[in-house]
Amino acid sequence: MNINELTNYKNDDQVVGLTGWVDSIRDHGGLTFVDLRDFTGSIQLVFDKSGEIDLKLKNEFYISINGLFKKRDKSLVNNKVFLGDSEIEVSELEVISISKTLPFQISNDIDTDENIRLKYRYLDLRREQMKINILTRSNTFKSIRSIMNELNIYEIDTPTLIKSTPEGAKDFLVPSRKSPSSFYALPQSPQMYKQLFMMSGFPNYYQIAKCYRDEDSRKDRQPEFTQLDLEFSDANPSIVKSNIEKIVQYVFSDAYDCKINTPFKSISYIDAMNLYGTDKPDMRIVETLMDISDIFLNTEINFLKDIISSGGVIKALHTDELLSRKQIDSIDTQIKELGSNGLGWFKIENKEISGPLAKILNDNEKNEILKHGSGTLLFQAGELILISQYLDLIRRTIFKPSSDEAYSFIWIEDFPFFENENGNLQPSHHPFTSPKDDEIFKNDPINATALHYDLVLNGVELGSGSQRINKPSIQKIVLEKWGLSQDEIDDRFGWFIEALSYGTPVHAGFAIGIDRLVAEVLNQPSIRDVIPFPKTQSGLDPLTNAPASIDEEILEEYNLKYINRDE
Ligand code: ASP
Repeated sequence: MNINELTNYKNDDQVVGLTGWVDSIRDHGGLTFVDLRDFTGSIQLVFDKSGEIDLKLKNEFYISINGLFKKRDKSLVNNKVFLGDSEIEVSELEVISISKTLPFQISNDIDTDENIRLKYRYLDLRREQMKINILTRSNTFKSIRSIMNELNIYEIDTPTLIKSTPEGAKDFLVPSRKSPSSFYALPQSPQMYKQLFMMSGFPNYYQIAKCYRDEDSRKDRQPEFTQLDLEFSDANPSIVKSNIEKIVQYVFSDAYDCKINTPFKSISYIDAMNLYGTDKPDMRIVETLMDISDIFLNTEINFLKDIISSGGVIKALHTDELLSRKQIDSIDTQIKELGSNGLGWFKIENKEISGPLAKILNDNEKNEILKHGSGTLLFQAGELILISQYLDLIRRTIFKPSSDEAYSFIWIEDFPFFENENGNLQPSHHPFTSPKDDEIFKNDPINATALHYDLVLNGVELGSGSQRINKPSIQKIVLEKWGLSQDEIDDRFGWFIEALSYGTPVHAGFAIGIDRLVAEVLNQPSIRDVIPFPKTQSGLDPLTNAPASIDEEILEEYNLKYINRDE
């Protein structure tokens, strides 16, 4: 029986049998108290030392006991804990399995290095918070499946040994033994396969899919992660978005007991960048960025003059708070780490302006700055796309969420089709996304907009989707504009363009990051805390020591060999 079933035992003095782990041991003269823990709860055991039982217990021994289930003496009742009014007077004890000395205590407030926690993940998962995290993850899967059934969306799986599906990362490769010198890739997402289902005539698809992306270890990314992946035939962005809203609303209510209002608001990418400095704005923070370029149109401050004349902007945030030098320096250091030249600031106090540039302001600039009222005006100057990330950081540092909503969702739409990454054009979503207007795309791809939409929750990108290209000619053009040669297009995507060529419905889809969703709902510091067996930030698994080197003889079977192994 489980410990939580004891709540059904109203009668005092019943004999019960339980198994579980020794959670803690307290010696009190003639009595020893042991907290017994199982998956469902814990209860105090009482051992009378003068009795027959030879008590050689240590924490995390797995034991089985029989004893009398009793109400505690009224003066000893602990109402704060589950079953705190009861205890078991043990008459029989069997140690089923002993435990070695633990690398860390099984308690919620541990202060243990994450590598150690991951090395002993099976012990870490015994902690209450981790149990809640993994159960919430499990409930999320369960709710997803039930709303999918309700919406008549088909669960269909796709292969994981494939050619390649680009999502902007590098592939994890798997060498083939039977075809030497050839490699499979693990899917960055099931993207092309789910589109093939639409070409095959399925009206819709979903999958709780593992995706693999070999990215530089950026904060809170995992090389493998789990997505709810969806696709709908004869669909456009608004059909997909309304389905996603239904799904999210259901999962929040069913798995997290939380009411979410729909439809979610939406904002264009350009407006998001202008108002929040990011395409993942935390909408619980109400303050927005201001463009103060106009104030400095006739400035004598040289670097601002240069920025404005070269088409840049000056964007600012105003807080009523008079920030201390320490606060200002700390923001300055943080944005410099991201690449900023430094934080510009003015303090306004008793109608006086102070700050490094205060003395060289002209009268008009002074008047305009004073209009913001007492407090601190923080600014960045430059090309909007470059300075936006610094402004986003400043906004999230000086302002705290002030809306009552615990969960604030927003759709971001009208993304540029391409992002310019160091001179290389990268699709802002993936190369299967349909341009909003094919003709504009053909003539001016750099300024074209994509039918791509993201869903953001509390400043976290929860998911992305798009309407897909359904014409082979457009698909080819997109791949060309992306910079692929004809040979590369034929080799990597020829089969897919061929598949698009036999009558392809208009289709669109979406994917939601389940790890991110659960981490956000549980307010956990990292997605690693909601993944049962995650990798470290550098992609390692301290539990099994993966990835590991392979014997040379085995490599030979794959026609592979190490070069410069010792370097
Ligand atoms: N394949 C996309 C992703 O993994 C999602 C989608 O476009 O449906 O982000």
